[in-house]
Amino acid sequence: VLGHEFGHAAFGHLELLAGHLVEDPQLSPGSTMRIRAWQRASEISADRAGLVLAGSLSAAARSLFKVASGIVSQNVAAGPERFAAQWQQLVDEVIKEGDRDFHQFSHPFPPLRMQAMRLFWDAHQDDAGSQTALRTANEAVERMLATMDPATSTGRLGDPLLSSHFFWGGLYLAVDGETLHPVQRDRLATVAPDGVDIDAAIAEAGKNPKACRERFVEAFRARRRKFNALEVHRIIYGILDVASADGSLQEHDVVRLRELTGLLGVSGQACDLVVSQYQKETRDDP
Ligand SMILES: [Zn+2]
Repeated sequence: VLGHEFGHAAFGHLELLAGHLVEDPQLSPGSTMRIRAWQRASEISADRAGLVLAGSLSAAARSLFKVASGIVSQNVAAGPERFAAQWQQLVDEVIKEGDRDFHQFSHPFPPLRMQAMRLFWDAHQDDAGSQTALRTANEAVERMLATMDPATSTGRLGDPLLSSHFFWGGLYLAVDGETLHPVQRDRLATVAPDGVDIDAAIAEAGKNPKACRERFVEAFRARRRKFNALEVHRIIYGILDVASADGSLQEHDVVRLRELTGLLGVSGQACDLVVSQYQKETRDDP
């Protein structure tokens, strides 16, 4: 815990009085979100300092568990693996609830912090390829942090809570009567849900496109809360990003898109409006 606080000091985190800044009523919601996201990232950096100074992943896990839970018993058994595994459960739960109000939190969820420490620790031990290992770990941590940040800098495709919709919806449009363009495959790879084999999914979709539509339906049925207008908008944009990655959006793409958004309860007319908005934006901003 001391190492974590030393980390904040050593990295200069205390020079930005983030806690005070976010209380300024003049601050725009967008700026507040960015400061909160920065705070969460700085907690990850400080955790790394604490971990290095503690010299032990399990000691760091116990400390984090005690601080997060307030349980200070000597017998606390917080195994790093089990603690970190709660992160995936939490993400699954968040997806079901459709709850996305985590951008106000100043600290990442404790299981996210634990998982981030594990990834860093493994990369840190791996001397041979430590630069590559560290980069891979950092990318994974960024994706986890993005779950808590609706304004994530990874762009509109970087939304882990909607990526299943982008993936199955985009694939459904992309496989329609043509071979998949390599650029489309690359785009799909950026939104592939955890545990999905991209090439197997593409091969299956080529034989049976309806299977993609079913996966798309499954993804939104898994949620307990309905999508709001902003989320529907993002889903349509995400699908269009995949479908038009090869540089063109065909009429049959739009037909399939209307079919998918109809399943979400969106009228064809509303869908067309978003499509023309998308086309206008991508033309203006290539
Ligand atoms: Zn801290």
